[in-house]
Amino acid sequence: MARKKLGVVELRWTCPKCNTLNLGTARTCQSCGAPQPEDVRFELPERQELVTDESAKAKAAAGPDIHCPYCGARNPAGSQTCSQCSGDLSEGALRKAGLVLGAFKSGPQAQLACPRCGASNPDTATVCQQCGGSLELKKPAEKAAQPAQPAARPQPWLIVALIVLAIMVCGGIALFSALGSRTQGITGVVEAVSWERTVSIEGFVPVERQDWQDRIPAGIEPGACEPRLREVVAEPVPDATEVCGTPYSVDTGSGYAEVVQDCEYHVYASYCSYLVDEWVQVNVASASGADLATFWPDPQLASDQRLGEQRQEAYTIVFSADEEQYNFTTDDYSLFQQAQVGSTWTLNVNSFGEVVSIAR
Ligand SMILES: [Zn+2]
Ligand SMILES: [Zn+2]
Ligand SMILES: [Zn+2]
Repeated sequence: MARKKLGVVELRWTCPKCNTLNLGTARTCQSCGAPQPEDVRFELPERQELVTDESAKAKAAAGPDIHCPYCGARNPAGSQTCSQCSGDLSEGALRKAGLVLGAFKSGPQAQLACPRCGASNPDTATVCQQCGGSLELKKPAEKAAQPAQPAARPQPWLIVALIVLAIMVCGGIALFSALGSRTQGITGVVEAVSWERTVSIEGFVPVERQDWQDRIPAGIEPGACEPRLREVVAEPVPDATEVCGTPYSVDTGSGYAEVVQDCEYHVYASYCSYLVDEWVQVNVASASGADLATFWPDPQLASDQRLGEQRQEAYTIVFSADEEQYNFTTDDYSLFQQAQVGSTWTLNVNSFGEVVSIAR
């Protein structure tokens, strides 16, 4: 994120001795003359107006003011001796800077009501126009502590129902796998066999792909393009869209706040679809039979076609056992080759009547 500087606003501080509201640049109270103590913070005025005056900007840029180590008086950044007591400021404490004071609110704000006489005053005033008394900045309302909501307790009957459901599901799974895995060996005779083999046929055909325009292979015309967000960067780059957050004020320790805004830069680029010729599966060829003489299909291929890598084989053996028929399907070619019609096998049949495996 890049921090963009929009300008400076003059802050306020309230004198702890006499409660008078003072301008940020006033280092001593306009009413009682006391210097601003180190622990009295600057506050944002109701109406925050960007100061365009160069000397104000220079004061804000000069850095935090220095508090005198002897009398505590606030002195401008860069001072050598205290304006109040002439003490050496080299050991003085710098005012804290960098604190975010709040969102920047420009434009007219609500009038300030005088706490003494109730008169309405402009949002930029520090003293009442009616009685001359000090005005007060509106403090942000203290957030009432929200009592933590107790987490909703699940109903006891719901817990019982869930436990019962879980037991039923587990029991069902256990029963199902027990039935499926318990087998029984029976003797069967091969009655018939059948097989099917397939191979994939690939064609060199146009396929639609998508990519950034500058990454499309050379020599290929892009089809439809649309602008898309490609990357977000912290610093400005050519043709980027600037996206900024809400402006906010940061205390500089000088009586002015710097109004800044965090920005990032969105870079858009053309994202296009294009057509490129690639080998893809366009068809399958299959061969089948009802004997043991298997073969792979050998299809007629067009000039822009080839056989693919995808090959599948399925062999089915039909047994009769105890006057019932059992089918067994496998992709084991050597096992299938032993399944002569009339040969006798041991069939492992599970509780669902499925042949799990066969052996001679
Ligand atoms: Zn005062
Ligand atoms: Zn001093
Ligand atoms: Zn008043």
